Amino acid sequence: MTNGQALRVLIVEHEDDDVQLALRELRKQGWEPDFRVVADAETLAAALRERPWDVVLSDYNLPGFDAPHALEVVQASGIDTPFLVVSGSVGEDRAVAIMAAGAHDFVVKDHPGRLGPAIERELREVAVRREKARAEEALHRLAFHSAVTGLPNRAWVEQRFAEVAAGESDAPAHALLLVDLHRFRDVNYSLDQRRGDDLLRQAGARLRDAFGDRADVCHVSGDNFLVLLPIPRGADDAAEAVRVALGALTAPFDLAGVQVEVSATAGVALSPEHGTDFLSLLRHADVACWTARRARAAAATYDPKLDEFTPRRLRLVADLRRAIDLGQLVLHYQPLVDLVGRRIVGIEALVRWKHPELGMVPPGEFIGLAEHTGAIRPLTEWVLQAALRDLARWRGRRPQFFVAVNVSARNLAEPEFADRVLAALAAVDAPGSALELEITESTIMEDPDAAVATLARLAAAGVRVAIDDFGTGYSSMTYLRRLPARTLKIDRSFVGAQRDGSPQVDRAIVRTIVDLGHALDVQITAEGIEDQQTLDVLVELGCDQGQGFFIGRPMAPPDLDRWLADSPWARP
Ligand code: C2E
Ligand code: MG
Ligand code: MG
Repeated sequence: MTNGQALRVLIVEHEDDDVQLALRELRKQGWEPDFRVVADAETLAAALRERPWDVVLSDYNLPGFDAPHALEVVQASGIDTPFLVVSGSVGEDRAVAIMAAGAHDFVVKDHPGRLGPAIERELREVAVRREKARAEEALHRLAFHSAVTGLPNRAWVEQRFAEVAAGESDAPAHALLLVDLHRFRDVNYSLDQRRGDDLLRQAGARLRDAFGDRADVCHVSGDNFLVLLPIPRGADDAAEAVRVALGALTAPFDLAGVQVEVSATAGVALSPEHGTDFLSLLRHADVACWTARRARAAAATYDPKLDEFTPRRLRLVADLRRAIDLGQLVLHYQPLVDLVGRRIVGIEALVRWKHPELGMVPPGEFIGLAEHTGAIRPLTEWVLQAALRDLARWRGRRPQFFVAVNVSARNLAEPEFADRVLAALAAVDAPGSALELEITESTIMEDPDAAVATLARLAAAGVRVAIDDFGTGYSSMTYLRRLPARTLKIDRSFVGAQRDGSPQVDRAIVRTIVDLGHALDVQITAEGIEDQQTLDVLVELGCDQGQGFFIGRPMAPPDLDRWLADSPWARP
């Protein structure tokens, strides 16, 4: 034992002689006691509050006080400190009783030599106990807090919500905000991960400070934070909370000298309206956040009408993968015509799903889901092969005929996509020019580099590239120029725009797109031609190709056979 080691001793004693006896014994054992003597409950409690003690030594009998009471006071303080009784003989019953009550040892004054080893042992044990408690607390923190921000995590807020929901009898009104940071990924990738973590920490701290104890702020994952708060005034309180949350994140962040501005989107779900259990509330806040982002709004409150994850949708997700294997997908073909030469040049393949119970499901309802779930890959593969196989049926008599297939941005990001397209062409012995790939403008922008690389390879093999729904997205001209597109398809909202109850071509937009396209040496196709008048205007404005119900609807192959035999557009 080291000499003169400080020992903070709280002595519960009324006889000075006994105090001296204990101190002498401690010094003999090599300690330097830093002590205080107390003799009643109040001063004992005050001393415990005032500073930490390594050990409490208590006489058994004091005037108006005794060791069992002293032990109670120590235990009530919640501090884990060894409590040793140092006393004359009190009889075995009392000695056993106070040990059972939680005293750590009983040293008889006649044998003071036992005091030193007893204290040493208790100090060791209390250290072990504290270490264990620390580890448990750390585990608890780990389980219920985010390691990056130190804020409570999802598990914590889930538990917290269960508490508040159980605590109040009638439907306690709460709002759950999901706050999603936008530029986090940029920071993580273009600066570095340390700064990314720093951004999350700062954002979390700002949210926490902005709400104080009005709300629970948690870091759920990546760049998502949750704010849970009571809303006694209902939607007004929720709207105010959105303002507070987004307001807290507007000022630029200083990330080790780099100023970064971060925008955020908030999705709001209200309890009990949108769910009384945490998980559905969280899912609804997530849906709201997604709705807001898609609408390019700062925030949105959950709206069941806009929820794309309705039971029907979930059903479709579950059935979609098997639909391909079960042969439930079919292709319809819509004629694409040359507006100047007035004749058919190709067909567009449009997929439909013949669901055994839900009937014909339009692509608008399941293509997005397929993109979400990864089913778009086998789906596009199937469409490609089926369309090229069907094409052979008509190409014999019309060698210039091509089929247009819609592909999603996800497909273009697949590294072997170009190979698979070329293999599909080779399998039916068709040249690249027999195929057109239609890619929507907005999806190209999701991953422009991947799109440009894949399409360049295919274009080199003669495959036609068309940009679909042009005008609705926000593509940058730089990328458009880099894309090997030979056709722009003007979105039908500009072609058949409803004005005064009748469809009317949005001349300004169509003319701009025609001029732009011709300047870039690409052809213009107008979608959605529903009447003669629209067709005439589009020809006048310089559109090269057209498509629409007025010319021909999407048709099953036998119907297309009939159309090809009868339509004035189908002269060979
Ligand atoms: P899209 O590629 O722009 O296809 C044109 C859509 O406009 C088709 O809807 C077609 O039926 C419709 N349409 C054609 N002419 C007219 C008209 O005169 N008036 C009106 N009101 N509509 C007309 P559909 O078949 O419901 O397809 C919707 C979208 O689903 C397609 O838009 C395309 O983006 C996507 N899609 C269809 N098939 C596939 C596919 O195999 N793969 C992928 N990735 N997407 C597909
Ligand atoms: Mg299309
Ligand atoms: Mg289109």
